[in-house]
Amino acid sequence: MGDDAGQPPQPGREVADVDLPPDDRGVATVTDEVIAPRRRFRERLGRSRAALSRGMSGLLARGADDDEAWEELEEALLAADVGVATATELVERLRTRARAERATGPALRELLRAELLEAVGSSDRSLALDLLEEHQRPGIVLVVGVNGTGKTTTVGKLALALAEEGKQPVLAAADTFRAAATEQLVIWGDRVGAPVVRHQQGADPAAVAFDGLASARARGADVLLVDTAGRLHTKTNLMEELRKLRRVLEREGGQVREVLLVLDATTGQNGLAQARQFTDAVGVTGVVLTKLDGTAKGGIVIAVQRDLGIPVKLVGLGEGPHDLAPFDPDAFVDALLSEDGT
Ligand code: GDP
Repeated sequence: MGDDAGQPPQPGREVADVDLPPDDRGVATVTDEVIAPRRRFRERLGRSRAALSRGMSGLLARGADDDEAWEELEEALLAADVGVATATELVERLRTRARAERATGPALRELLRAELLEAVGSSDRSLALDLLEEHQRPGIVLVVGVNGTGKTTTVGKLALALAEEGKQPVLAAADTFRAAATEQLVIWGDRVGAPVVRHQQGADPAAVAFDGLASARARGADVLLVDTAGRLHTKTNLMEELRKLRRVLEREGGQVREVLLVLDATTGQNGLAQARQFTDAVGVTGVVLTKLDGTAKGGIVIAVQRDLGIPVKLVGLGEGPHDLAPFDPDAFVDALLSEDGT
């Protein structure tokens, strides 16, 4: 490829570990109300729920024989960014079943629930970080995506979740393009009590990742979380940079267990084009859908998985440290269909 991937970045250059004494590694500094996961889904998906329940209300009031009500439901699904093919298919199947079963009211809602669950699909959504053998550590997680989607925040939240599980994360600030990203990551590292490996602005991201791996190994850390740059995805050099970063880690025997693509749910279907670019470049293993709390387009969860064949593994439900949740299809669909106030 003619890049400098053949030359290992030199460790030890400009590395400023933001490190806390071992005694302070606990995460007790992060105070945030920990809400039960299902309740959090319900509370935070309010906008999507409101949109869908408006689409359902005609059907529930006027019954399965009312064509206009079915159109309203289809429109609501489209507005929620489920995608045209899925919305049409879903309504068709539901309509056939509802008429055959003469379903009304709660039974109709239950049918929609079943169809939505089916559309969300079942896949393995766990992070491949459990049960790592000693020699496989640290498990490496690359976090990729365009700027503003919530990458750095996700790295911070994930570091906290891992620390709370008793794992030791190390963070690598490989978005060297924006000084602010590094500063933000350092703040998260402080909160979580995780070391942050950083270089100066403009440094080679692969070199930061390389040093991150060395640092994580030296500490016997469980996980290395790499925050990457996200300049516009149309710039091919970003993809090349990401490929190189991965190559450098793997050449050193690093175990890249997950490549998480962060997508902003509020951008809806536009995010899918981005997603394909990243998938082609670095082999995305899972999607983190952020900002589901701020949008009525919750249906994008379904579109992402159907169009890309990549499972949504985590969702961002707010800006707080505990607002990252494993994606739970049941809780998600229940939240979309729950009645107000439940
Ligand atoms: P990056 O450029 O991809 O690293 O994005 P950042 O992590 O800097 O996040 C961009 C903005 O999105 C920040 O203001 C975050 O607080 C916000 N953000 C990230 N995740 C979520 C989420 O799940 N919900 C909401 N409402 N905001 C989020």
